[in-house]
Amino acid sequence: FRAGTILDEEMLEEFEGRLIRSDMGVEAADEIVAELRKKFLGRTVDPPAVAETVNAKLRDLLTGSAGTGTGLAEPAGVEEENPDPLARLTVNPLGPTVVLVSGVNGVGKTTSIAKLAKLLTDAGRTVVLAAGDTFRAAAVEQLTTWAGRIGCEIVTGEMNSDPASVAHRGAVRAKELGADVLILDTAGRLQTQTNLMNELAKIRRVVGKQIEGAPHESLLVIDATTGQNGLSQAEKFSEAAGCTGILLSKLDGSAKGGVVIPIRRRMNIPVKFVGLGEGLDDLAVFEPAKFVRALEI
Ligand code: GDP
Repeated sequence: FRAGTILDEEMLEEFEGRLIRSDMGVEAADEIVAELRKKFLGRTVDPPAVAETVNAKLRDLLTGSAGTGTGLAEPAGVEEENPDPLARLTVNPLGPTVVLVSGVNGVGKTTSIAKLAKLLTDAGRTVVLAAGDTFRAAAVEQLTTWAGRIGCEIVTGEMNSDPASVAHRGAVRAKELGADVLILDTAGRLQTQTNLMNELAKIRRVVGKQIEGAPHESLLVIDATTGQNGLSQAEKFSEAAGCTGILLSKLDGSAKGGVVIPIRRRMNIPVKFVGLGEGLDDLAVFEPAKFVRALEI
């Protein structure tokens, strides 16, 4: 919007197109444009005021303080104030906090698990990994290598063995060690979707029997470069995995990851972490204000 011009419907329409191209979806774009129309239509454009309205609305959409009305909004400012990664997770006060991680192959799941383990270890927590993707030898090897570098324990199983049994042994081991966090890797073969969903449900049942309330957190890894496809992935996984958070990977490239906005809006799943590269230290807790700035709308 150019300063000094009068804001009209045509400009709003053009702007809505730009919003939609950022993968945030039509509904969120409509909401933002409605707000601009209400506040500024027919008035002289003041770019900073328009930008602040758009950014505030985007932050609301991301923190759940707008739209969904399901009452799961995070307290204002929590993202900016608390850098402790554990503060982003629903913590089990009685024993290991169990974090289930799901996502389709290639999104960066294995790498993200290692990065999360590193982030938690750096924050002084003891972490156990369970390599539940028993269908991919390379993923297990990769995760074992990362675990060695981080210095955390990893539980693995035979190739093609039941992922739930690896999760079960992981839970037993995490309790024995008095670990703070158990992170469960899972398979991501989308071609056998029914099996995968049954597998996730079984893993949840099995760890729930070992550790009260487990899994306490269920993170779905979404690749920022997949665009709108991320929304259908979230729809598919949210039920079987009971997703409580998104880990948005590959945000270091040109992709802006706008798809997390409709995911939050429709399913009320908040973003908790972002992946910012291929290295072990390239994971950060999600900061809505920073994310909104990077959208560059
Ligand atoms: P998985 O199949 O989902 O387990 O995916 P991987 O963890 O094996 O990652 C797939 C590819 O994405 C690898 O080349 C990773 O290095 C890369 N990757 C993972 N996370 C990120 C990230 O945050 N940024 C970038 N640039 N690459 C990533």
